[in-house]
Amino acid sequence: MPRYEYRCRPCGSTFELNRPMAESSAPAVCPAGHEDTVKLLSTVAVGGSASAPAPAPSGGGGGCCGGGCCG
Ligand SMILES: [Zn+2]
Repeated sequence: MPRYEYRCRPCGSTFELNRPMAESSAPAVCPAGHEDTVKLLSTVAVGGSASAPAPAPSGGGGGCCGGGCCG
């Protein structure tokens, strides 16, 4: 059973739940009983630093997109 991570907004803490994938988007109640929670994406930091996932280099360099000429 997959494990999902949630963040409780009243608490500001995170907690994990093991639940079926079909219920991954169902409301999760934090251990303290708060229902105002949001599901976090696993292994992806959201809303933290401004480091966006770097796109895979296409062709291995030498393309014209490196210098900004492609917009
Ligand atoms: Zn809570």
